[in-house]
Amino acid sequence: MLLKAVLAVFAILAAVIVYFAAATEVFDMTSFPVYQKSDHYDPETRRFYDAVPMRSPGGTGAKLLRMVFDEKAFHPEKPLPTVRPDFKSFMAQGDSFRYMWLGHSIVLMNLGGTFLMTDPVFSDCVSPIPIMMHRFQKPAASMDEIPLPDAILISHDHYDHLDRKAVMYFAAKGVKFVTPLGVGERLRKWGVPEGSITELDWDGKAGIGGVSVTLVPARHASGRGLFDADRTLWTGYVAEKGGRAVYYSGDTSWGDHLEGIPRKFSGVTFDAAFIENGQYDESWPDYHMFPEETAKAASFFAPARFIPIHWGAYPLAVHTWNDSVKRSVSAAEKLGVKPLVPKIGEIFDSSAEPDRWYE
Ligand SMILES: [Zn+2]
Repeated sequence: MLLKAVLAVFAILAAVIVYFAAATEVFDMTSFPVYQKSDHYDPETRRFYDAVPMRSPGGTGAKLLRMVFDEKAFHPEKPLPTVRPDFKSFMAQGDSFRYMWLGHSIVLMNLGGTFLMTDPVFSDCVSPIPIMMHRFQKPAASMDEIPLPDAILISHDHYDHLDRKAVMYFAAKGVKFVTPLGVGERLRKWGVPEGSITELDWDGKAGIGGVSVTLVPARHASGRGLFDADRTLWTGYVAEKGGRAVYYSGDTSWGDHLEGIPRKFSGVTFDAAFIENGQYDESWPDYHMFPEETAKAASFFAPARFIPIHWGAYPLAVHTWNDSVKRSVSAAEKLGVKPLVPKIGEIFDSSAEPDRWYE
């Protein structure tokens, strides 16, 4: 016990040092624009907020200690089965919608010839303080193996969704980014060219190839350091082409916004709904959905396939690696929603049949 306490003190000291060493990451937020037009932004505090205020996390101390000192308990016993990505087949032209999941929230979509990628994160660790949240599953492909997307959609600035190295790699290749308010500003401060960034509020739309990309509400939070909580916005996305659409939730907790999103897209059928499913806890109930909520959220979209994401790479909570997916798949089936759990790296479409490899 004494040893653990000493280690904890050292960890905290190390954390403070690392934090200040990494301070370049945390800009002077007063240099960010004031987003006067946004109705979920307070110009006084210069922070975004959720319509239903979030409860602050409570009782997290013991859980965080477990995540630091007993992280392996939340890793799979052996590497997950993966498929070597066949990018040539994935990129083949045609009208079909085709997908690939690379673990956590990295989704590749070939929507009738337009290639989008969400939240590319390849780092070994996604904690601002590198003492927990280590990658347990190697990426199925390295960045330079992935064909260049027509656009990368960023949901928010948490480390498990916004990886500076990945952003700079794809930016140097001329890839365009769509971001919520504030995140584009971060990218500009990192050196991403202005012309590569489309920075929008919820309901904002960007045209990428023949695909219309809309930012849709999420109930979450943001921040990468100690003093920048909620300075930038969080979002989900709907990508639509020819009356067929895909929903990507980003990170969101449960809320009325979920039922409202598909209503804004009347006459559109959802081919796939990629919804966050994992990293929840009673101590932070307003940050992520519980698996049964994820399934219920999927039912609102009546998608041809519901694909649980936000799992399969990093342990960010104190549940086992496959708890989320086992629970959401069974809850979805009870609601008449067709779940699909592709292997990491596998090409699939909405006619693919489920395989329970994660059990
Ligand atoms: Zn997040």
